[in-house]
Amino acid sequence: MTRPIRARIDLQALQHNFRLVREAAPGARVLAVVKANAYGHGAVAVARALRAADAFALASVEEAVQLREAGITAPLVLLEGVFGVEELRAVAAHDLQMVVHSLEQLDWLEQSDPATPLHLWLKVDTGMHRLGVTTRQYHEVRRRLSRLIAARGGSLRLMSHLACADAPRHPANDSQLAAFLTLDAVGLERSLANSAALLSRPDMCFDWVRPGIMLYGASPFDPAAERRPGLRAVMRLESRLIAVRACRKGEGVGYGHTWTCPSDLPVGVVAAGYGDGYPRHAAPGTPVLVNGTAVPLIGRVSMDMLCVDLRALPEARAGDPVELWGACLPVEALAARAATLSYELLCNVSARVPREYLNGEG
Ligand SMILES: *Cc1c(COP(=O)(O)O)cnc(C)c1O
Repeated sequence: MTRPIRARIDLQALQHNFRLVREAAPGARVLAVVKANAYGHGAVAVARALRAADAFALASVEEAVQLREAGITAPLVLLEGVFGVEELRAVAAHDLQMVVHSLEQLDWLEQSDPATPLHLWLKVDTGMHRLGVTTRQYHEVRRRLSRLIAARGGSLRLMSHLACADAPRHPANDSQLAAFLTLDAVGLERSLANSAALLSRPDMCFDWVRPGIMLYGASPFDPAAERRPGLRAVMRLESRLIAVRACRKGEGVGYGHTWTCPSDLPVGVVAAGYGDGYPRHAAPGTPVLVNGTAVPLIGRVSMDMLCVDLRALPEARAGDPVELWGACLPVEALAARAATLSYELLCNVSARVPREYLNGEG
C-alpha cells in the first residue's frame, strides 16, 4: 500500500450543486469560479465537468492558461485583471476576459495594441473597499473603456463584490446594492452575487452570478452549519489508520505532550497532517470519522499524522478507513473547530495529496 491519503472529488455532486445555482438564479448566466485550482479540487477536471457553465473565473493569467492548454474553450475571466502591462499580450493570445479595477489598469489598456479586442468587466467598489474604481470615478472610466471598445471591438460589463454576503441580514448588503443600482448601466450586463448572495438575495442576481464555494458543496453562510441548502460535498479527504497503540493512563500523546491519556486507551494514528492541508489548529475533540464513526482528535496535529482516541471504537485496526471531511463530516464543521473557513481548508489541500475523480465522463 502507498501512503493512503486521497482527496476524492465527486463530479456528480459538483454538477448537482451547479444545478442548484441554476435553480436559485434561473435568469442569470453563470461565471463559475475556479480560481485557486478550483478551491483545491483541480481546475481542469472541474471545468471539464462544468461544461454547462457560461464562463469560468480565475485569479491569474497562469491559472487561465492552464485551462486553455487543457483544451477549455469557454470564456475565461481574470477576476483581478492583469498585474502588469506586459500581461496584456498573454490576455490577447489566450483570448481572456479581464476585470478592470483601477485607473492604472485603464492606462495600460489605453497604451496597448490597438488591434486587439477587449472583453472587460469594470469593477466598481460599492463598499467592500478592496478593489474597484470608486462610484465617483465610474462615469469617466466607463466613458474611456467604451471608447476603447468602440475602436477595437469587444465587450464591457459591470461588476462589484459584496463584503458581507455570508451574513444576509448585515446592513452592508443593502447599502452595497443601493450603490450598485445608482450606477448608470444602460447597455451593460451586470454581476454582483457570489454564492451567498445568489442563494439569499434573488434581487442581487442580475445578468451574471459568480458562484464559487457552493459549487464545491460547502455553505457560504456564517455560521455555515446553519444553512446547507441542498448542497452536496464534492471533496472527501480520506486516509487510513496506519497504527493503533495501547497507551496508558497519564502518557502524553504527540508533540509537546499537550494531551495526556485520562485512562488506558487505544490511540489511532491517521496518515493525515498539516503537510496535507489538515489544519494544525484543529482543537482536541474535533471529530474524525474512523469506519464511519466519529472519534475525537487528540494531541497536536503533526505534518504527516494525527492521533485519535479510539475508546469508542476498540475494534479499530490499522488499515481502517478514515474520513477527515466529506459528505459525512462537513468541511464547515471542521473549519469551525479550527477557527477557519471551508474555503481555506479546501484550498490548502496540498499538492502531495492525490486527487481521484469519481463519476466523470472521462
Ligand atoms: C472568489 C470570488 C467569488 C466567489 O465567491 P464564493 O463566496 O466562493 O461564492 C465571486 N466573485 C469574486 C470577485 C471572487 O473573487
